[in-house]
Amino acid sequence: MAQDKRSILVTGGAGYIGSHAVLALKDAGYNPVVIDNLVTGFRWAVPDDVPFYEGNVVDGALIAQIVKHENIVAAMHFAGSVVVPESVENPLKYYQNNTANSREFIEHLIHNNVRHLIFSSTAATYGIPEQMPVAEDCPQIPINPYGMSKLMTEYMLRDISAAHDFNFCALRYFNVAGADPQGRSGQSTAGATHLIKVAVEAALGRRDSIGIFGTDFDTKDGSGVRDYIHVSDLAQAHLLALQALMNNPQNSYTLNCGYGHGFSVIEVLDAVDRVTNAKLNRVIQGRRAGDPDALVADNRAIMAQFNWTPQYNDLDIIVTHALQWERILSQKNMA
Ligand code: UDP
Repeated sequence: MAQDKRSILVTGGAGYIGSHAVLALKDAGYNPVVIDNLVTGFRWAVPDDVPFYEGNVVDGALIAQIVKHENIVAAMHFAGSVVVPESVENPLKYYQNNTANSREFIEHLIHNNVRHLIFSSTAATYGIPEQMPVAEDCPQIPINPYGMSKLMTEYMLRDISAAHDFNFCALRYFNVAGADPQGRSGQSTAGATHLIKVAVEAALGRRDSIGIFGTDFDTKDGSGVRDYIHVSDLAQAHLLALQALMNNPQNSYTLNCGYGHGFSVIEVLDAVDRVTNAKLNRVIQGRRAGDPDALVADNRAIMAQFNWTPQYNDLDIIVTHALQWERILSQKNMA
């Protein structure tokens, strides 16, 4: 395996999105190699035949060893911290994990001649956009340290790619949801806060109710609108990005990853009710701090540049897969 030219280092490959990227890479015939410190990831989320290194992306000796031993040609950098309210409480953690550690990791890649990187950025870099759907060239004014910590890494990548023989693709994720259709992975973090995860937990009786955080937004029904994208479609976008980077070493890309249409909180909960044929216990609550009314991707750039063709652009399918994973997860937790 180590002789194969297509070994890809996946940081955070034991986490939610990273583990789906590993599956997509494997399914497409690449050799993913995972580095994960298992702070939030799960060892079982990485298939047994995928090389796994427990460690930190700032460990230069380890990165050098992996690159050499596994013959790494490109990296996907998922490792990082992702909880917005936590970033407000503890900005130092976010600037450490998402900004400073990314800088060191990129330096290790450059030193070891790994010339391509796909970076997990976020719609949170836009803050509260003036224009909807939001396009890549809209002003980026993050309203929390999470968004800022990712934006700073985007800036670093731009400058580093101009100075070195190195190109990157920053994918700005919108609301990632759902799970592997074959039930091999899914969102597994305990105490998750994301709407679809919380809603399927409530649907399976793990929570008494689901809160609707605000019904006075400037949206179709007053609840917040987001662009929910299936995690497996997002993983496919990473594969296309990888091919683009390797085929066009002079080009770098910064692209939104969303379907280009939004659903309100109430529409999402209606979808859960439809899929389960039951009724969630909904509790209307106040707004959560810092929530924009709507966040929907202008996705024309990724469609045009990568010919990305989502397979699961259907809210009921996203909910069905999230629910299927939640059932599998409870069996794992009981085992
Ligand atoms: N939301 C909600 N109840 C919940 C969790 C989220 O009403 O228990 C709303 C939230 O206010 C936002 C949308 O659902 O309008 C998506 O929130 P989520 O935390 O999933 O992602 P975010 O858009 O904040 O990254």
